[in-house]
Amino acid sequence: MNGTTDRAVLLARLAEARTEPWDVAIIGGGATGLGVALDAAARGLAVVLVDSHDFSEGTSSRATKLVHGGVRYLSQGNIGLVREALHERSTILANAPHLAQRMGFVMPAYHWWEPGFYGIGLKAYDALAGSHSLGSTEWLSAHRTLELLPGASPRGLVGGVRYWDGQFDDARFAIALARTAQQRGALLLNHCAAVDLVREAGQVRGLVWRDAETGREGRLAARCVVNATGVWVDAVRDMDRDADAPPRPPMVAPSQGVHLIVDRHFLPGAHALLVPKTADGRVLFAVPFMGKTILGTTDTPRADIVYEPEAFAQDVGFILTEAGRYLAHAPRREDVRAVWVGLRPLVRPPGDEAHDGAPGHAGASTKTISREHTVIVGRSGLVTVTGGKWTTYRAMAEDVLARAMARGLVPRRPAGATVRLPLVGAAPGRPLADPPGEHLYGSEAGLLRSLPGASHWLWQDGESGQGGLSEAMVRFAARHEMAREVTDVLARRSRLLFLEPAAAGRCARAVAAILSEELGREVDPAQAEALAAQYGRLP
Ligand SMILES: Cc1cc2nc3c(=O)[nH]c(=O)nc-3n(C[C@H](O)[C@H](O)[C@H](O)COP(=O)(O)OP(=O)(O)OC[C@H]3O[C@@H](n4cnc5c(N)ncnc54)[C@H](O)[C@@H]3O)c2cc1C
Repeated sequence: MNGTTDRAVLLARLAEARTEPWDVAIIGGGATGLGVALDAAARGLAVVLVDSHDFSEGTSSRATKLVHGGVRYLSQGNIGLVREALHERSTILANAPHLAQRMGFVMPAYHWWEPGFYGIGLKAYDALAGSHSLGSTEWLSAHRTLELLPGASPRGLVGGVRYWDGQFDDARFAIALARTAQQRGALLLNHCAAVDLVREAGQVRGLVWRDAETGREGRLAARCVVNATGVWVDAVRDMDRDADAPPRPPMVAPSQGVHLIVDRHFLPGAHALLVPKTADGRVLFAVPFMGKTILGTTDTPRADIVYEPEAFAQDVGFILTEAGRYLAHAPRREDVRAVWVGLRPLVRPPGDEAHDGAPGHAGASTKTISREHTVIVGRSGLVTVTGGKWTTYRAMAEDVLARAMARGLVPRRPAGATVRLPLVGAAPGRPLADPPGEHLYGSEAGLLRSLPGASHWLWQDGESGQGGLSEAMVRFAARHEMAREVTDVLARRSRLLFLEPAAAGRCARAVAAILSEELGREVDPAQAEALAAQYGRLP
């Protein structure tokens, strides 16, 4: 039964009366929850996970796609976080080489002091990586900088520095985590919310779930419930409150990050560009990704927590201005193909109420809040985990299970089960900078090609004429990757919605028709069409 994606079978398993409670029930299928699910399942525990939306539909599909130690955190003196992330970086690259690879980053320098100043920091970054280094930091001449970064502005260029980090397809990586956990016996359902917690004598003993498609509800018993709902953790913590108890102060201060997509010709070549210090003291990246260039990101406090936040006009202007200072051809508003936004679940310092922001109104800065994760085991036994970054998801999962085991919530099993655990499809891959195609399916590319419509393209990359989205990919998403909605396919199994929303909008009806056939029910393209319009529209 493991590995089936038949939803009726999965729901039946969720609803079945078990003689023993689940060892771990996880709420939230982003990087954090999926990491816990895989780790617990790999240790032989009985694991169930529900996500109210799709796997990685929250923050985890909206990252800058970097698998990195975080050069920025180094300058903040956060050595522990950087070292841990650099070690985790190698694990990610080794376990899913089709979805995560090393990438060269070049920092072009326009002042004589910059190569020395930043180069020393980047050498320290190498040193912290130790045996996990992906390549040595090098100082570059102006000529070599332009060779590696043909899109950089040559005006006043004095040289550059190259260092190595990683890049990944965040959403496909998340789906691969879900499927690998499933192969290890875990039960995972997307589009199935936790609507309440089961509490007995002040202790959390399970959860109440609701299937979004049928409205069916049920309750399940679990020894340990993990709240891994990212920016939504406070809503779940609120379910763990006596009716007469006052609400707890929120744990998360959401911070909004905007990304813009422009064509590849703004940054040709295989290297990414790092802007070491923007006007607001952050770093900004221009990263080749799937035939396009990602520009980003920003860090703006935001009070409302919605699934599809819209970019602020000043954030878009900021990214274009900063990118324009470093690129030979400054991208203009009309060059932007897509805009998408993610919310960082930053953990408030205890007693902090100063980080409130509001939509359209930047509150106090979130830039200085720690990027480390936080695990809280409540008196009721509810385990809440949030913060951190994608790159450290595996270490976070180990931490969560260690804390749950220390409290006696989960049977003790040794850690380390996921260090060398290849994810579904793991096989050496083509660069992620290339247009999307069959290479993203790794060892499953043959299975993909065996499905009907392998050479029927719903969309093909215009610039390269290679790759794209085929009918077979939609069928594969439905049959093997638990896609239920058009956006599940267009945003997360394929990344077309993030790369070329106009094309995604045009494909939505065809995708809906194939999904309807595969799933045996009417699938509506309207939400995907509306999102495609939103992602293609600048504020
Ligand atoms: C703009 C931006 C850029 C970033 N770039 C990088 C990067 O390049 N590299 C990196 O390492 N990190 C990066 N990060 C950080 C990283 O993306 C996040 O730390 C990570 O994705 C958080 O994952 P999560 O699982 O905690 O949250 P989420 O991905 O938001 O997952 C939470 C899940 O919980 C579900 N949920 C909510 N309520 C319920 C409920 N009641 N029942 C069931 N499910 C529920 C949601 O649907 C959601 O899927 C970036 C973050 C942002 C915002």
